[in-house]
Amino acid sequence: SYDALIVGAGHAGAHTALALRQNGFGGSVALLGDEPEPPYERPPLSKEFLNGDKQFDRLLIRPVPFWAERAVQMLPGRRVVAVDPVARTVGTTAGEEFTYGRLVWATGGRARALTCPGAGAAGVHSLRTRADAERIQLALPDIQHVVIIGGGYIGLEVAAALATKGKSVTVLEACERVLARVAGEELSRFYEAEHRARGVDVRLGAKVDAIETKDGRVTGVCLADGTVLPAEMVVVGIGIIPAVEPLVDAGAEGGNGVAVDAFMRTSLPDVLAVGDCAFHANPFADGERVRLESVQNAVDTAATAGRTLVGNPLPYHAVPWFWSNQFDLKLQTMGLSTGYDQTVVRGEMATRSFSLVYLRRGRVIALDCINATRDFAQGRALVTEGAQIEPALLADASIPLKQAKV
Ligand code: FAD
Repeated sequence: SYDALIVGAGHAGAHTALALRQNGFGGSVALLGDEPEPPYERPPLSKEFLNGDKQFDRLLIRPVPFWAERAVQMLPGRRVVAVDPVARTVGTTAGEEFTYGRLVWATGGRARALTCPGAGAAGVHSLRTRADAERIQLALPDIQHVVIIGGGYIGLEVAAALATKGKSVTVLEACERVLARVAGEELSRFYEAEHRARGVDVRLGAKVDAIETKDGRVTGVCLADGTVLPAEMVVVGIGIIPAVEPLVDAGAEGGNGVAVDAFMRTSLPDVLAVGDCAFHANPFADGERVRLESVQNAVDTAATAGRTLVGNPLPYHAVPWFWSNQFDLKLQTMGLSTGYDQTVVRGEMATRSFSLVYLRRGRVIALDCINATRDFAQGRALVTEGAQIEPALLADASIPLKQAKV
């Protein structure tokens, strides 16, 4: 029995445990998760860890002894499959049962799988966990042609990492541009051009019909137009499915993930949810309820949950931010571009250091900053206030953003 039981020992779960102790929570805390490792950061899995620049121990969110020092009980290698909100218990696949005072659901999501014929073949990978990344690394020496399905951030990061390693890489994107869900068209075109300039074959409007196989191993990817692309490896990056079934089965209001209020409370008594799986009303999403998949959201929803659990609640109001590294391009985003009606390119795209500023009804709502860390830092205040600035001023990179703001 634990006063606070956190299910899911990833970014948000780990930070919930930290937030509890930082807020002086004196009860027992346990962090239960299905992976064997202590909590680690996922972003490097498609970046520095995948390309070998960072070893796994540098991905740990805290050194191993830290958790015991803070009296956080680790319960690795366990998967929760049932929640009983009346008895206040969770049950695992192995039949263990744990009783909770408060439950924090921090399970993130699992990689969405392909459903076409051949999708289960050997050599078809997704990338969510350390184990996934190591499977890809282990296979790399023996392969040359990689097809990446999905032109989102993870797909493009993997493409950049593997192209840099000398692999022949194709990116298949079903939409008419990469990053269509998260970025403006100028940014999509910029990244398509950068990838192509480094030899990545970026194909837009590409629909996958089947994975071709021989003896159970992938040999190619067959497109709806009949094209067959040879491949010894396929990496699928088509989003995640929030891992909320046990909680929704127990009666929690769901939908896209599990619904929470501004204090991260679900509809079940003393059950909170944080991180990628939490469907919440974000003040920066124009009144929309959203699920955000970012380290920022994991850390800040955890901080909100920690305050709620010690009886010192503050509504969630953190400014969303995100980053992506591809080749020598460091992208940093501030705010959410949801519902933008105007974009302004700030600086010259050709210099490979510029920002794309998003406006809604004349107000700055978000920035995508490419090799432009100063814009990222100064853009926060603009997004927080929803600043109204003349597009011509925004476009002039010689005027620092903090001066453009009057
Ligand atoms: P997770 O970190 O996924 O943790 C959830 C944990 O719960 C997992 O260990 C999971 O196995 C476990 N679990 C699930 N179901 C159960 C169950 N029933 N019982 C027990 N345990 C369970 N974000 C950025 O901001 N910038 C980036 O550059 C970036 N790059 C990324 C690159 C990759 C390859 C990936 C995969 C993600 C990236 N992200 C990035 C997103 C970021 O890692 C996530 O937003 C963050 O990890 C979310 O934290 P979480 O705790 O909600 O979920």
